[in-house]
Amino acid sequence: MPLSAKTFDVRTGNAQHMFHPMIDPKVVRQVPPLIIERGDGVHVFDIDGKRYLDTVASLWNVNVGHNRPEITEAITAQLGKIAYYSTFQNTSNPPAIELSQRLAAMFAPEKMTKVLFSSGGSDAVETALKIARQYWKLEGQSERVKFISLKQGYHGVHFGGASINGNPAFRTAYEPLMPGCFQIESPDLYRNPWGETDPERLAARCADELERTIQYQGAHTIAAFIAEPVQGAGGVIVPPATYWPLMRKVLDKHGVLLISDEIVTGFGRIGAMCGARAWGVAPDIMAMAKGINSGYVPLGATLFNERVAQAFDKPDVPAALMHGYTYSGHALACAAANANLAIVEAEDLPARALDVGGYLLDRLEELRRYAQVGDVRGKGLMVAVELVRDRTTKAPLTPPHAFIGALVKGAREEGAIIRVQGNRLILSPPLVFSHADVDETLRILHAAFSAAQSFD
Ligand code: PMP
Repeated sequence: MPLSAKTFDVRTGNAQHMFHPMIDPKVVRQVPPLIIERGDGVHVFDIDGKRYLDTVASLWNVNVGHNRPEITEAITAQLGKIAYYSTFQNTSNPPAIELSQRLAAMFAPEKMTKVLFSSGGSDAVETALKIARQYWKLEGQSERVKFISLKQGYHGVHFGGASINGNPAFRTAYEPLMPGCFQIESPDLYRNPWGETDPERLAARCADELERTIQYQGAHTIAAFIAEPVQGAGGVIVPPATYWPLMRKVLDKHGVLLISDEIVTGFGRIGAMCGARAWGVAPDIMAMAKGINSGYVPLGATLFNERVAQAFDKPDVPAALMHGYTYSGHALACAAANANLAIVEAEDLPARALDVGGYLLDRLEELRRYAQVGDVRGKGLMVAVELVRDRTTKAPLTPPHAFIGALVKGAREEGAIIRVQGNRLILSPPLVFSHADVDETLRILHAAFSAAQSFD
């Protein structure tokens, strides 16, 4: 079939039948989507064969890069044995068992000893919320049902996750949601309601707000506080260094569980094997997905420590876990994860993220020469450039602004996929990115920013 005919069919079919996440379906009909057919390392290729630098690792998840033979081989070898067998009740499969051991060893510093697998990030968050609720019931404190989270937080799209999400955009169309969920300020040094620019004072204000919220609600009603170590979808909000230890102190004072949503930060992205470690805190529960197997097969995991696990272990207290998914511990997904995590460790990708991320952040400072750049921030390979209409007022340059459309289009023409979420240009490349890839990213960004100036 000639390429043009194939292209026509694929694009038409997409517009006719597919609903895409996170976009108005009418837009997909008007603007043909970029259709990716193939990947290789930090590059992907569209159906016309055009090559792009993947500066976002698809959805900040393809951490070891595309099409790694080690992972393909692991999946193929597992397929040769059995693709799937359930882990419900008392059945299991070897790749899931191996992965549970690997995760416990990897997160021994955080004292994680148990894992419940799922099919992705939203599932892992839902599992974390339910484990927290059941924990308190098993502890005889059944009034502890509420959750505190952060404005700008993103925790997936299930009803639990949507209820704790900090951005109303993910909530309003689906209300009413779960009661008992409360959001407090994010540790955003660039925009916060106090106009606070001192990191330590900002951290103290946030911890104080947590304290007051817990007291106001009544500590005996709060199950858990959940947050991302660095907020991702909310705009790469990097907290001050003192923030997490202060927050943990407040939670400990009131016995509240800490759930770390590590779905983006897990497995190296911000320069440590998990985000909590990067900030020197140990959560009680960790929700993980994405980088666990770099997206080769859908997989989520919820890890927890002995404080939580022991509640399920009390003699004479029935503690059936009436939660889990058909694909919890899917053998192909776990085989992919075992191969993926072997790469993460062998190539020390957390250290690489720190090194290449530092270089990326330094070079991105160059973008401040463009009037639209209000802030540049990040940690490891989780980076954002905040776009503004006016640097003094910090008025955001929000979509569908022509400048943003021109920026994304310009980058594509130059050979890179970039993502703008709200008014933030987000860069979250595979952790195997090199200094040369950073240089290429900057060449493309300069070209795209220059070309977009006429749309300002
Ligand atoms: N939590 C965080 C922090 C995320 O970034 C995401 C996805 N981007 C999720 C949860 C939800 O994960 P999924 O899309 O795999 O359901």
